[in-house]
Amino acid sequence: MKRFLTALIALVTLAWGWETLSAPGAVATGAGTAWAVREHALTLTGLWSFALMSLAMVLATRPAWLERPFGGMDRIYRVHKWAGILAVGFAALHWLVEMSDDVIKALWGREGRLSKDHGGGFLEAMRDVAEELGEFAIYALLAMLVLTLWKRFPFKLWRYAHKVMPVLYLALAFHAAFLAPLDYWMQPVGLLLATLIAAGSIAGVLVLAGRVGHGRRVGGVVESVREAGAGVTEVSCRLDEGWRGHRPGQFAFATFDRLEGAHPFTIASADRGDRRVRFEIKALGDYTRGLAQRLQAGQPLSVEGPYGCFELPIGQGGRDQVWIAGGIGVTPFLAWLEALQSTPARAPQVDFYYSVREHETDPFVARLEALCANLPAVRLHVISGARNERLTAATLRDRSRAGAMTEIWFCGPGGLARSLREGLRATGMGGVRFHQEAFEMR
Ligand SMILES: Cc1cc2nc3c(=O)[nH]c(=O)nc-3n(C[C@H](O)[C@H](O)[C@H](O)COP(=O)(O)OP(=O)(O)OC[C@H]3O[C@@H](n4cnc5c(N)ncnc54)[C@H](O)[C@@H]3O)c2cc1C
Repeated sequence: MKRFLTALIALVTLAWGWETLSAPGAVATGAGTAWAVREHALTLTGLWSFALMSLAMVLATRPAWLERPFGGMDRIYRVHKWAGILAVGFAALHWLVEMSDDVIKALWGREGRLSKDHGGGFLEAMRDVAEELGEFAIYALLAMLVLTLWKRFPFKLWRYAHKVMPVLYLALAFHAAFLAPLDYWMQPVGLLLATLIAAGSIAGVLVLAGRVGHGRRVGGVVESVREAGAGVTEVSCRLDEGWRGHRPGQFAFATFDRLEGAHPFTIASADRGDRRVRFEIKALGDYTRGLAQRLQAGQPLSVEGPYGCFELPIGQGGRDQVWIAGGIGVTPFLAWLEALQSTPARAPQVDFYYSVREHETDPFVARLEALCANLPAVRLHVISGARNERLTAATLRDRSRAGAMTEIWFCGPGGLARSLREGLRATGMGGVRFHQEAFEMR
């Protein structure tokens, strides 16, 4: 993710640098230096912010074709989130630079202040509107950033507030189009800016029109609902024609209640080609709490997907595999194990650690034991907190095969993932490949 965002910022800087250095009298000296620096800082921070904002906007359309290069939709969401946060940071900087004119005037006077390249009456009027819109959008973006980082702000309210983003983006696209220096449009930087405006605006309109994931959305009906265990609701559904099937480990956005909207859940069953999917849903918040009482067999639902690249790793001979599930993070592994039932010989040699609060009361232990009984290559280890058992990096180090590259497939609480990664680094196993499915998008 860091590499991708850095590459985008570098590309924008390169295009800007090309234009700036090739312009006559690009490097100002003397009295005008402060004003020239301000002008450059204004355009560069504006370009950085707008490029990142455009990327965030495009990624908000859930582009399934980008899943492979990004490593799954959960990663796309993470890049979307950090592109948005960085974009607001640069927008704030852009605003501060804009506000610096009084300071420069007081320190260096008006001499050397660059005149704006107004292009006539209409353009002048549009530029004034663009400036006003930009200022308003920055305040709104800063407010949105605070709500995003303030984790205790309810997700449901945040989601409604977040719906304003495409409108803000379109306002900023207008701001960028009319306030970019006129000579940009004949340069590579202008081509880049035009591409960003076009891609981001199309994405913004698609989001506003509710077309996101439209081609991957199908209706269906809930076939059964049952409490699989304390706080876990199992929902089995049959989907309509048009469902393209799924690979084990993928997830979908399920809408049981149109007012509530879509929630992402892993499809915890294997695809048998009958358009049936099963979700195992843990009560983790307002909506999922009491879901078993609210859902009924026979009620309609809509499902958008499948998405995700947390797929059954087979055919990776020679690699040492470890699967780790924490709590409800077991769902993709349930789908993997179900998919292997018909072809047990394809199962890789793997140690599968399932970390639970209490072995005896956990809703999935018995099912995992039954699934693994048919798969001798999969060695299941249930780690029970109630028995004072802990999964640590040392456990993984002690079992690793000498000389083999270890691949870890993890789905579970972020805290457990962090402590394992840190522990692995500390035990000299920092080089292991750690694949992680994130159950969090905000
Ligand atoms: C790829 C993926 C796969 C998942 N698979 C499963 C699964 O198999 N079983 C399971 O029990 N849970 C799964 N989850 C988590 C599940 O989506 C949330 O627990 C659920 O949406 C919480 O909703 P809530 O209103 O009850 O809780 P809230 O208190 O509203 O939210 C709790 C957290 O859940 C997330 N969340 C809530 N609503 C949404 C939404 N509409 N879109 C995206 N994120 C949301 C946010 O991170 C939020 O902070 C998965 C999440 C993701 C991203």
